[in-house]
Amino acid sequence: MERIIQQTDYDALSCKLAAISAGYLPSSALQRLPADLAKKYTQWHREYLLTLKKFSRRAFGKVDQTMRSSFPVMNYGTYLRTVGIDVAILDFLDANEKVQVVNLGCGSDLRMLPLLMMFPHVRCVDIDYSDSVQLKNKILRENGTLRNDLDLSEDSADSSPVLVDQERYKLIACDLNDILKTTRLLNTCTSGDIPTIIISECLLCYMHEKESQLLIHAVSAKYAHGLWISYDPIGGSQPNDRFGTIMQSNLRESRNLEMPTLMTYNSKEKYASRWPETLNVIINDMWEVLNTQIPEIERKRLRSLQFLDELEELKVMQTHYILMKAEW
Ligand code: SAM
Repeated sequence: MERIIQQTDYDALSCKLAAISAGYLPSSALQRLPADLAKKYTQWHREYLLTLKKFSRRAFGKVDQTMRSSFPVMNYGTYLRTVGIDVAILDFLDANEKVQVVNLGCGSDLRMLPLLMMFPHVRCVDIDYSDSVQLKNKILRENGTLRNDLDLSEDSADSSPVLVDQERYKLIACDLNDILKTTRLLNTCTSGDIPTIIISECLLCYMHEKESQLLIHAVSAKYAHGLWISYDPIGGSQPNDRFGTIMQSNLRESRNLEMPTLMTYNSKEKYASRWPETLNVIINDMWEVLNTQIPEIERKRLRSLQFLDELEELKVMQTHYILMKAEW
């Protein structure tokens, strides 16, 4: 199961590359990227994919194929999840100068690169299963652009489980189901006094209820001031809503993959109830994010990229994904 879960990262990567290729990402306006970094954003992702080919032709083939078969509705979804999370990060950075960003289940996400370049006082910590971060570590060190922009050496001098151990960037191998190891590593690599952003982007949906709740409670208790940003699918709670059950059976049949809590936390309210009541929680589905948080000028830009015929399908999909922000 662990291996199957790790491979979901290739879906996330191919969706991101497809959205970049079709011009949805980057959004210079909302991700607040200066022109040089907007150009780099595209370059980092392309070079990551090309370097992935050197280490795993199979993974490259999968990502490349999925990327090429992407539809406008999927590009909208990737755009919304990426920009939604980035805007939440940037708003927190507006209010706090020295911040650490901990990305749980980071996969191939490269959002640490613009953050490290744009904000000199930000530190980033990426955590995923050992196999996933070992591959990410090899790619970051092999590719000249990624290596230089992260100021890494070509050889992997740092030892497991901290594969990159820099002052401002750490790449850590850890099974997040192991709460003792997770908290021990966070105690070593982060500080409880620094304002902290925790990201879980399509992570909790693959974890079992007990382990995910332990993770949420242990990690949010660690930091004096924080913001937890979580993005996940929800199964749907209306009597005739079959989105979640269909999604579960499709995943089971096609990949032997489970989303154990999709129907437990099947509404926005139930999903938000996973965080301690004392936190200030805001939760939106992604259809609400599109219609209330993306300015009209940006929506017009998106409409100009590809013809979107399937508006009803977009609505059904996006009402079944949420962006949750819990601040304390
Ligand atoms: N967050 C990244 C993104 O959105 O681009 C990757 C998302 S991918 C769908 C899910 C990631 O969570 C995978 O990289 C997987 O290995 C990681 N993951 C799931 N369960 C995990 C666990 N128990 N410990 C560490 N990583 C985990």
